[in-house]
Amino acid sequence: MTEAHSQIVILGGGVAGLAAAIALDRRGHAVTVIERDPPPPGDDPFMTWKRRGVPQFRLPHGFSARTRNLLAAHAPEVLERLGADGIEVINLFKRLIPEELWEPGDDAFANLWARRAAFELALRRTAEARPGIAFVCPAVATGLRFERADGTPPRVTGVRLADGRELDAGLVLDCGGQRTPLPRWLAAEGVRVGADSQDCETVYFSRYYRFTEGCDLPKTAVATLRGDLDGVAYIGFPGDHDTFAICFEGHPADEDLRLLRHTWAFEAAAGAVPAVAPWVDPANGTPLDGVQIMGGHHNVRRRYVVDGAPLVLGLLPVGDSLCTTNPAYGWGAAMALTFAFTAADAVERHGGDLAATALAYEEGVAAEADAVYRESAAMDRARIYRLTGREVPEHDRAEMERQHLIAEGLAGGVLLDIELGRAFCRRVNLVGPADEVLGNPELAVRAGEARKEYGEEPAAADGTPTRDELRAIIHAARPEATV
Ligand SMILES: Cc1cc2nc3c(=O)[nH]c(=O)nc-3n(C[C@H](O)[C@H](O)[C@H](O)COP(=O)(O)OP(=O)(O)OC[C@H]3O[C@@H](n4cnc5c(N)ncnc54)[C@H](O)[C@@H]3O)c2cc1C
Repeated sequence: MTEAHSQIVILGGGVAGLAAAIALDRRGHAVTVIERDPPPPGDDPFMTWKRRGVPQFRLPHGFSARTRNLLAAHAPEVLERLGADGIEVINLFKRLIPEELWEPGDDAFANLWARRAAFELALRRTAEARPGIAFVCPAVATGLRFERADGTPPRVTGVRLADGRELDAGLVLDCGGQRTPLPRWLAAEGVRVGADSQDCETVYFSRYYRFTEGCDLPKTAVATLRGDLDGVAYIGFPGDHDTFAICFEGHPADEDLRLLRHTWAFEAAAGAVPAVAPWVDPANGTPLDGVQIMGGHHNVRRRYVVDGAPLVLGLLPVGDSLCTTNPAYGWGAAMALTFAFTAADAVERHGGDLAATALAYEEGVAAEADAVYRESAAMDRARIYRLTGREVPEHDRAEMERQHLIAEGLAGGVLLDIELGRAFCRRVNLVGPADEVLGNPELAVRAGEARKEYGEEPAAADGTPTRDELRAIIHAARPEATV
């Protein structure tokens, strides 16, 4: 290890902040985590942990294989704690194919089946148990302190808190999430952080349930529950401790869809879709809380290094603050861990040399951050063109063709051609860079063939409502008092 940073402060104790704290502490660096929300309560974190700073806290999360693989490599004690807490590791790919077809590489496709609360609790408890990690919590950070010298970028020297305190800092990791205030604070200092951004044009409505005692549904099948009702998608999410979520996703301009925020509308819609209905039947699923709703999602890629030079010294953006993708693809936690562990490596290698640390970090994350941003934004555009009927502009045609090949060829052939199945698993689990999915030309040909053969949307089960029928069902369910 080279010269140590005098003080490392982590702004935000979510996925990225906690993972970075653990990784830095394992490398012998003392860190302070500032977190605006209170610490976890002793019992039932899903219902009782007050996480206003994480609006998606009670929305469904699926933790990809990359998430598990990174924890195994960099923070195995978190996996041990998850295991001790009863969180299952499931390799659905291996479960779905005959054992004689398993290959050693398939072990990389195992997911963690957990609600966000259970996952984050394991990170938090691991961090709390490490002696070099101090929490300042609950405490809201309100600004940074800078030192300026002619001819060099501003250097961060401290963090200001809402209660008037200031913490000295030689290095700050911005783990403030998708709504990080850092770009605003830097703008006030005359530093403009450039960003690529694209609206996901999506809104989620979801509800968690616990399997009712005596439920005889094949529980793991909830992980494969998905379908589309002319632009309204439904998805099942497995959780920890016999829980699961049902989620509807649609376009924010769809007025009727907004009614799904009401329990009566959500349950009516879920009960009307034959593939979903058994899961929300009280005989099988008992609701844990009300309907959770979240919209306003954007794909964002921020740039803190421009023309090979950091905009600020002593600041690393880690997690959603560097790059946010559409939550529907389930890549956020894996990328937060990727960035966090890369940041810890950069600090390990370059110690107190702030410019070298920033450049090493950028070199370690830029290609992957660009790739997930591009892929997420492109998948979104493909969906948005389809839903809104907007014409695909000339400059986007080749990319849209590629996305259709991925969506219809890979996904269509997933259970019929084992190599397409593996490629599909690599893509959704980020086992390898997101944009490598069709890098192998032979695979691209097979995907093309599969698209021709199986690329059509499977026919909906009998009785599945059309979009208009769903609208009528929702309106008919409206209680008299609210008409
Ligand atoms: C609806 C939804 C569903 C998602 N589903 C999935 C999924 O299925 N799989 C997946 O991998 N990812 C999913 N994600 C993405 C995932 O939640 C994020 O990528 C991940 O939480 C990013 O971690 P982070 O640490 O960067 O941010 P966060 O986990 O959001 O943490 C940010 C932290 O910073 C704190 N903070 C912010 N500002 C301040 C301040 N001024 N002072 C002190 N503290 C502050 C907040 O309180 C919070 O604790 C989903 C996201 C959404 C919105």
